[in-house]
Amino acid sequence: MNFIQAIEIVTVLTILMIISYRLRILDAQGTILAAAIGGTVYLTVGRIGVVLITAFVVVAGLFTKTGYDRKSMIGAAEPRKGLRGWRNVMGNGIVAAAAAIMYALFPEYSEAIFGGYVGAIAAVFADTMATEVGLLHKGDPRLIIGFKKVSPGTPGGVTLLGYGGALGAALILTVTWLLLGEPNPLNPVLAVLVVSSSALVGTSVDSVIGQYFQGVYRCETCGKHTELETHCGRPAKPIRGFRIVNNHVVNILCSLSGALVGAALTLLFHSTA
Ligand SMILES: [Zn+2]
Repeated sequence: MNFIQAIEIVTVLTILMIISYRLRILDAQGTILAAAIGGTVYLTVGRIGVVLITAFVVVAGLFTKTGYDRKSMIGAAEPRKGLRGWRNVMGNGIVAAAAAIMYALFPEYSEAIFGGYVGAIAAVFADTMATEVGLLHKGDPRLIIGFKKVSPGTPGGVTLLGYGGALGAALILTVTWLLLGEPNPLNPVLAVLVVSSSALVGTSVDSVIGQYFQGVYRCETCGKHTELETHCGRPAKPIRGFRIVNNHVVNILCSLSGALVGAALTLLFHSTA
């Protein structure tokens, strides 16, 4: 790292910290952890890595606030007006950060690991958008396995609009990557394949885990099923799943599935492309 590069990193990360804090996307601790992950990515994957993760944080953060009153009314809004903390940053960013460190440690596998890095982000970006866009859907979601109707916000529930949101995330990530990703270690067709596959697999893995393993609670005030341990300001009653499999653990598994898909596709197709 030379002096100019150090100045660039500090400047860019400072601007991003101010933006995410001022737009109330992340709280103070979340902002600091995100900056630490951003710095790690800058020094390992480089500029393109930071661009992709920023697209995720900003777009997903803003969509969380879209229609917030309505999401709140149906009892399925992200708590704290969509302001996310360090646990959220950890759940959504730890796999990408690990991939970034591996990228620097194992240069002989840098392309596959880069595919894994992008896949990790694509999965959590798509999953967040699936939730936040899906909640704007007027009807009830259906469980991903069995298609039984459930109330909005129930883990495992999916909507067509939500999958549209997931594909929207994939599109935003791909376009950002292809427009700004210079140098780009993967070809454009592979970029589309890696991002869209990781996005769809990650979103679906999140819903399947949500349906069968995630801790689900019933609010005794409003009767809604929720992944939150408190609802309407008081503790909710556990009804199924494992308490330890909370939303953050599900996010880690979602992004891990995206990373594996991204790395595998890159390994399969990169050398032949
Ligand atoms: Zn409630």
